[in-house]
Amino acid sequence: MSKLKKAEIKQINEKLLDTKEQLVSDMEQILKEVKGISANRNVLDEGDEANHMNTRFRNSVILDKQSQELKKVEYALLKINKKNFGVCEMCSESIRFERLLAKPYAKYCIDCKNAIEQNL
Ligand SMILES: [Zn+2]
Repeated sequence: MSKLKKAEIKQINEKLLDTKEQLVSDMEQILKEVKGISANRNVLDEGDEANHMNTRFRNSVILDKQSQELKKVEYALLKINKKNFGVCEMCSESIRFERLLAKPYAKYCIDCKNAIEQNL
């Protein structure tokens, strides 16, 4: 399979940077909300408290998911910097551009990914 072209890598790099920016700003928003909840804690009655527990739980789940995604994005950006982006970590074949465009932080080509999933 052919290697990625420079322009293709550039396109994915931009997509990754956009995703990163979006993730960071979403996370900041949630963290702000979390801080707001803690600050208001003293004035809450029990019903509110339960509500806020739910909110806090939901926020921590979202934050967790987003920080994992952020790690993947940063890992992909690192690979672009090291010029080993777009190579399957399993078989060292090039990953198709279309696949990377849909999932820029894919570590494996579609064949290896399918093989891994079938073995789970
Ligand atoms: Zn592979």
